[in-house]
Amino acid sequence: MAPGGSIYQDISESCVTSTDYDVEPANLEYRGSPCQKSNAVNGKGTMASNSAMHDLLDCPVCMNSMYPPINQCPNGHTLCHSCKAQVQNICPICRHELGNIRCLALEKVAESLELPCKYKFLGCEGIFSYHSRLRHEQSCRYRPYDCPYAGAECPITGDIMFLVKHLKDDHNVDMHDGSTFNHRYVKANPHEVENATWMLTVFNCFNHQFCLHFEAFHIGMAPVYMAFLRFMGDDHDAKKFSYSLEVGGNGRKLTWQGVPRSIRDSHITVRDSLDGLCIQRSMALFFSGGDRQELKLKVAGRIWKEQL
Ligand SMILES: [Zn+2]
Ligand SMILES: [Zn+2]
Ligand SMILES: [Zn+2]
Ligand SMILES: [Zn+2]
Repeated sequence: MAPGGSIYQDISESCVTSTDYDVEPANLEYRGSPCQKSNAVNGKGTMASNSAMHDLLDCPVCMNSMYPPINQCPNGHTLCHSCKAQVQNICPICRHELGNIRCLALEKVAESLELPCKYKFLGCEGIFSYHSRLRHEQSCRYRPYDCPYAGAECPITGDIMFLVKHLKDDHNVDMHDGSTFNHRYVKANPHEVENATWMLTVFNCFNHQFCLHFEAFHIGMAPVYMAFLRFMGDDHDAKKFSYSLEVGGNGRKLTWQGVPRSIRDSHITVRDSLDGLCIQRSMALFFSGGDRQELKLKVAGRIWKEQL
């Protein structure tokens, strides 16, 4: 969560749009690309023995590489620290009581090894020493993305293609092809204030996907609506695009031009930084025309690639 997020309260409004935006936290397992690990280390002559070392460092419980602290039972069976916390002090191999025995020799081996990034299976070719590897993995550009769907704490992570499918299948998100759009947001009772209201539409253009978020929340006491675009990919690539949003009615018009934010930035971070088209509720109702009892916003938008 971004700092300062607490000053915003979400507004709830009965919401009618062309899409059903109900949350379906369906299957929670990662169904992305194949599994986490590959011991195949290419090249260089020392690599064969290095690879045997890697096998030695496989935790027999979770199958991940073990890092210090590495634990062992009195009979010498090793396991990683996080698995030790889960086996109730019983060695998973020989059922002997575990105690608190470290395996210092193996810890030294672990620290001396050069290991591939754990996102090698997603395309990272980096090889790192023990300490720099952990640091690298936190910001590795191949690391899986979090599900960009807002409004529910969705634990799904994966690469972009996987997440696009997940949004479609598990969150019933609307998918559109093309770089221009016209969207109508209609709410029957914009004065009701309760839960979060938000909508997500995914646009497919320039061989990339963009998430258009629309939501209602409070800045201090003031209810606002906000629309903004997030790029399904890294920040570096997000900056190659621009977008514009336009909303109006009754002879008035508000326009926003911005740069889509990477989905590496959480939805809340982007929202709280107000990096998008913000519409005060009174203005939104003015745009809607009529008797101000219903919110009817027409948001037109365009995405384009900047000539860099
Ligand atoms: Zn383990
Ligand atoms: Zn044992
Ligand atoms: Zn990496
Ligand atoms: Zn999700």
